[in-house]
Amino acid sequence: SYDEFYVKSVVRSISDWPEPGVIFRDVTPVFKDPKAMRITCDAFIQRYIDSSITHVACIDARGFILGSVVAYQLNLPLVLIRKKGKLPGETIAEEYSLEYGSATVELQKDAIQEGDTVLIFDDLIATGGTVLAAASLIKRLGGQVAEVAALIDLPDLKGSQRIQDSGIPVFALLAYE
Ligand code: 5GP
Repeated sequence: SYDEFYVKSVVRSISDWPEPGVIFRDVTPVFKDPKAMRITCDAFIQRYIDSSITHVACIDARGFILGSVVAYQLNLPLVLIRKKGKLPGETIAEEYSLEYGSATVELQKDAIQEGDTVLIFDDLIATGGTVLAAASLIKRLGGQVAEVAALIDLPDLKGSQRIQDSGIPVFALLAYE
């Protein structure tokens, strides 16, 4: 649509970052452009407004920005999936391999309870490793992942396919081949 085309025109592509051969899709210009930000958040809000989702779980750090706007508008609890060592109190952890190296994400034990229906939110899906680690944290606490939402999917990296193969639907506003 015209709106999605507009948002796509605002995302900036940076070659050879963070390492040679990688094209990094920089979403900070979207955050800086109120029209692009509004189109983006409204698309997710419309999609989930009448859903059975009970919690929005957003991923450190760019997922926080979109996820918090969407959770606020849907009047839903927001929970944070954070990089290792950032969350106080009792946490659980999942280690995973990502596009550039390996990482660990954590979730507070009381963030999710048995029966919660969770939307996972991030800015971009590459290999899918981050989202799959986030999903296993939620499942370990008894939650069910209803869907994964992202601004951008990189389908060539097959991450969204991996997530769907694990039984979790994926919705992304934009795709870059
Ligand atoms: P994955 O785990 O799917 O391989 O990588 C996705 C994670 O890495 C997301 O949390 C995302 O923020 C970050 N990421 C990887 N590549 C890019 C990129 O090109 N642009 C942005 N904005 N984030 C990226």
